[in-house]
Amino acid sequence: MSKPTVAIVGRPNVGKSTIFNRIVGERISIVEDIPGVTRDRIYSSAEWLNQEFSLIDTGGIDIGDEPFLEQIRQQAEIAMDEADVIVFLTNGREGVTAADEEVAKILYKTKKPVVLAVNKVDNPEMRSDIYDFYALGFGEVYPISGSHGLGLGDLLDEVIGHFPDKDQENYDEETIKFSLIGRPNVGKSSLVNALLGQERVIVSNVAGTTRDAVDTPYTKDGQDYVIIDTAGMRKKGKVYESTEKYSVLRALRAIERSDVVLVVLDGEEGIIEQDKKIAGYAHEAGRSVVIVVNKWDAVEKDEKTMKEFEENIRAHFQFLDYAPIVFLSAKTRKRTQTLLPMINKACESHSLRVPTNVLNDVIMDAIAMNPTPTHNGQRLRVYYATQVAIKPPTFVVFVNDPELLHFSYERFLENRIRDAFDFEGSPIKIIGRARA
Ligand code: GDP
Ligand code: GDP
Repeated sequence: MSKPTVAIVGRPNVGKSTIFNRIVGERISIVEDIPGVTRDRIYSSAEWLNQEFSLIDTGGIDIGDEPFLEQIRQQAEIAMDEADVIVFLTNGREGVTAADEEVAKILYKTKKPVVLAVNKVDNPEMRSDIYDFYALGFGEVYPISGSHGLGLGDLLDEVIGHFPDKDQENYDEETIKFSLIGRPNVGKSSLVNALLGQERVIVSNVAGTTRDAVDTPYTKDGQDYVIIDTAGMRKKGKVYESTEKYSVLRALRAIERSDVVLVVLDGEEGIIEQDKKIAGYAHEAGRSVVIVVNKWDAVEKDEKTMKEFEENIRAHFQFLDYAPIVFLSAKTRKRTQTLLPMINKACESHSLRVPTNVLNDVIMDAIAMNPTPTHNGQRLRVYYATQVAIKPPTFVVFVNDPELLHFSYERFLENRIRDAFDFEGSPIKIIGRARA
């Protein structure tokens, strides 16, 4: 399901990242303690009154060496392209500046709702400073304080009031949505073409929002698929499209809308740090993952090459140990036909539910085999477990004290669950809860 998107724009130092962090709060990441996976605080999910949405801090997207004004103009354009609602942030302590007026000029061109917020209004006496901001011409003005957390409720009420009524995603439940992510030139577009060309499908764009226009639906063996945010099929030409942060943003958004993410690597060039970062995003979002090593035709190989490459991947992407790996060539189409079955499988794993009684047998056998650890003389006790969610499969394990359920024991339980049930391709989450 696609969530509405809100973007924050405004000149530097008005408090965009402060507000972003306030609204997002501290979200729990499933890979928090895995080194090498860094979080880019430009894009995150958020929630207000049970409404989920995605939030973008456009201030975090630097546009190369462009001059200051050009940077903020382009950030405003990104907001106009990507968001359903735009929060235009200004600074009440400085009043309306020329740069605010520049941002306003760009935003006048959008048909999307713009909500004007005046930040750093830290106390009620300062409220009289906001009147100048009405002159910017965006209707009501919302005084807020990011540092004190004031006024955010009213602002967010207004923001969610502008959300589109209906879910914009009009694909049905059975449709498998997948995306291809990877650094430039690994062969994502070639792979899409290979997949599509193989089936001689007519590529039709789904009508609707601009966002959906880059999705590519197709059908194979009676199964409907949508390739989300198809690389290379987007109209090019905007300056910011080539910036790294913007491509990260696109990737994150595509990941979020996918059931399965193909992490595409370049077999010829091998693995670099950027690949690891990109793979981390897929894992962190809790999507199923298939690792694709492309350009295998161009690799000089002997009987050990594939195995060595695989070991290299496993060493670099330890957090993706559940992801199957396929070596293929978009160019010669060798093994590209194995991809869809792997996607199907990964998608199936993502929504697999296991029976509670069998799950508990597995957990109890595991504990008998490898007794629970003790900490400061206290032993972890596991009472029972139950699957509470799919996409990704999530298990709550009831224990005496969740603090005693350490990562390594959690990992052990995860592995036993994986041995007993086929979750290939899908991450699984384990949450320790104190038994009431
Ligand atoms: P950005 O460049 O727009 O992302 O701005 P930041 O979020 O980095 O904030 C710029 C500065 O303003 C930081 O020093 C913040 O601590 C400060 N700041 C942010 N919100 C408030 C606020 O509500 N009141 C006050 N007094 N300072 C704030
Ligand atoms: P993207 O930026 O990830 O979409 O990458 P492209 O699909 O544009 O491919 C980048 C370059 O790699 C192009 O020159 C392709 O012809 C080449 N390429 C893509 N797939 C393969 C492959 O399987 N084998 C070889 N040898 N080259 C490939």
